[in-house]
Amino acid sequence: MAYEITQKLKNIVAYEPTCNVCKIRLDANESFIALSEQLIHDIVDSVKKVAYNRYPDPLATEVIDLYANLQGINRDCLTAGNGSDELISLICTAFLNKGDKVITLTPDFLMYQFYCALTENPVIQIPKNEQLQIEIDRLIESVKANNARAIFFSNPCNPTSLGISAQDVCTILRSVDALVVLDEAYMDFWDQSLLSKVEEFDNLIILRTCSKAYGMAAIRLGFAAANSEITKALRSAKSPYNVNAVTQAIGAAVLRRKHELQGAIQKIIKSRNELYNSLCDIEKSNAEKIKVYETRTNFVFVKLQNAKVAYDFLCQNDISVRLLGDYLRITAGSEYENEQVILKLKEYITKEV
Ligand SMILES: *Cc1c(COP(=O)(O)O)cnc(C)c1O
Repeated sequence: MAYEITQKLKNIVAYEPTCNVCKIRLDANESFIALSEQLIHDIVDSVKKVAYNRYPDPLATEVIDLYANLQGINRDCLTAGNGSDELISLICTAFLNKGDKVITLTPDFLMYQFYCALTENPVIQIPKNEQLQIEIDRLIESVKANNARAIFFSNPCNPTSLGISAQDVCTILRSVDALVVLDEAYMDFWDQSLLSKVEEFDNLIILRTCSKAYGMAAIRLGFAAANSEITKALRSAKSPYNVNAVTQAIGAAVLRRKHELQGAIQKIIKSRNELYNSLCDIEKSNAEKIKVYETRTNFVFVKLQNAKVAYDFLCQNDISVRLLGDYLRITAGSEYENEQVILKLKEYITKEV
């Protein structure tokens, strides 16, 4: 008998990033800042030194030490991954048994469900409230009522850009008998991280990435932070050479440049604030057509009348943003890119009857 694809695979919908290649790309929450020439020079130097015939360091020691130093945390609580995406997949595979229930929130990052489908873990989605905020009590109750094994959520959230305080996250952690996977992909832009407290909890894994604030989406590098017991388990369950030597070399060259990275984050926050303020200006005179949400990340989330039409109009003007139902998620870009998206959105809103 021929092989038949499993049912779970037949049900999977492949992740599709916005595929049309526009000149102005504000759809993937990447950094708009290219690495400096000096840094590229360092990178070329380190890549030259890679021993290409050898397997990479399985523990990615150098990047882990540098990241620990950068964040002021203990290196023994870090595990490196081929992007934080790989770590989500690893957590599903290693920390859940088939059939264990998982709680996610909606709207939130869609990859949690994607990996849970592959590991055959039913996902219970808890809706956020009208303001798109997490209802802490409701979340805690559903974890208990469903006897869930794990909760996954992003803070601050992709796509809403809203967040909950570190104190609220602690309340969740202390109230549930479940693993809490706290995705801090955008926490470099906000100040409510739990990284410094990660060792106080025996049910917490924090995910961080170099793809957003650090401008390294291309090289795939992310980290999981957890107490020593969980870290030991993560390190033993991962694929041995999950972070390749080129990524380790480039990652180290970049993570060594603390000041440049901090400068880039400040520039991104400035751009984000400008984008947010310009969108709020549009909202002031068109309150019935557009609603702008507060932002804690490098993007702004807006609710729009006929969001799909607006999205298409932007595409026609060579600008890509992310369309999510009635909402657009717009990544902060360069001054020029922000100006263009604001210009076109204004044009769209004023001509739309
Ligand atoms: C972008 C993003 C990630 C993925 O990061 P990689 O390290 O590039 O895999 C994870 N979580 C959230 C919420 C993100 O937006």
